[in-house]
Amino acid sequence: MNYYNLKDKEEIVDFRTATVKGQGKEKGLFFPESIPPLDRQLIENLHQLSDEEIAFQCMKDFVGDEIPADILKAIVSETVSFEIPLKKINEHIYSLELFHGPTLAFKDIGARFMSGCLSYFLKDQDKKVTVLVATSGDTGGAVAHGFYKTPGINVVILYPKNKVSPVQEKQLTALGENISALEINGSFDDCQSLVKQAFSDQEITSNVFLTSANSINVARWLPQQIYYLLALKQWQRTEKEPPVICVPSGNFGNICAGILAHLRGLPAKHFIAACNKNDSIPRYLEIRELVQKETVPTLSNAMDVGNPSNFVRVSELFENRFEKIKGAVSGYSVDDKKTLETIKEVYEKYHYLLEPHSAVAYTALEQYLEENPGRKGFILGTAHPVKFPEAIEKAVKIKTDIPESLEELMKKDKKSTEMQSDFEELKRFLLNKTKQQ
Ligand SMILES: *Cc1c(COP(=O)(O)O)cnc(C)c1O
Repeated sequence: MNYYNLKDKEEIVDFRTATVKGQGKEKGLFFPESIPPLDRQLIENLHQLSDEEIAFQCMKDFVGDEIPADILKAIVSETVSFEIPLKKINEHIYSLELFHGPTLAFKDIGARFMSGCLSYFLKDQDKKVTVLVATSGDTGGAVAHGFYKTPGINVVILYPKNKVSPVQEKQLTALGENISALEINGSFDDCQSLVKQAFSDQEITSNVFLTSANSINVARWLPQQIYYLLALKQWQRTEKEPPVICVPSGNFGNICAGILAHLRGLPAKHFIAACNKNDSIPRYLEIRELVQKETVPTLSNAMDVGNPSNFVRVSELFENRFEKIKGAVSGYSVDDKKTLETIKEVYEKYHYLLEPHSAVAYTALEQYLEENPGRKGFILGTAHPVKFPEAIEKAVKIKTDIPESLEELMKKDKKSTEMQSDFEELKRFLLNKTKQQ
């Protein structure tokens, strides 16, 4: 499969190059040259197939012959090697729990697939590769764990100071070894723009072999389709009508993968982009105008994104036609107050504990189902409640226990380098790091 740069359609690369480079010229995102339809047989027989087989079928066309089938099978097995259950919350709403992986967030899935592909592509390189990534919370941990102690790969993570939860911070600062965490005095958008600037800086790119691991990387974005298929496999056990799918959205990589799977043949009634107060896309869907706004901090901090990078891909999937996008996707914005009320209400009524991101999704889906009676759907449960204890304790009087898998990590020391939101400072850091090797 080839991929073109959305900013410059003349730039066409293969899967390997798209994975290794992360992004194209002018910071453009890569996009598949064609949308390979899913095999009808696959959709009809999901219930008979193993998760590994479904994952392999889902991904093979995007990789082509660039990774041998047996290795791709091993990579997807690793990618879906933890439980991804679809749990029923009530008569109309289910939750796809994507948080049973090593860092308790859905980003583990994309990060594991990408690290598998990147390690394969770089296995014969003698130069060290630096994975440079900005995180609003969960990306950092997932990437850090995905690449921890991977030979030949250094990881540099930028995160906004005081804007990630204690568990999230530990997940990206406590590993050490080949993982460096930079604590930036600024917002996630500042971190993201520093990273983008680094990729287009001549001096950096000629000295450091840089690659990204954000959801802009096709190897992180595309495997997210897999769990929409795994959800449908479980959905079909009890439900006849296709689901409404509600995705708590920040950078819009996750929902974009779901829509891609849908356009390839995955049955879905409708998509909902559930946002917090950072509502540039819900507003766009309403007024047809993309207004740039400052990022505002919220309880669902992994969705505090003012200017979602992946929305250009969503738009491209619909040939940039506004009416088509609007026909398939609705946007909702949910504030912190309502988020907390939902956590409380769902816990009291259904004994199901939501964390803030999933609660934003639940609220949006509930509202949509009220406006469109007779439908049912599921939310994507993107993180484990334990990652957001403060918000949860504000909403319900229970303490979220740290699972055993995290206890060890929480005891470790935080190792980070504090930095202003200043490109020159980041540049010095990256160049020095390479010199030390
Ligand atoms: C990253 C993240 C999101 C947003 O996903 P996007 O692909 O950026 O839209 C939602 N919830 C949680 C918990 C996340 O970590």
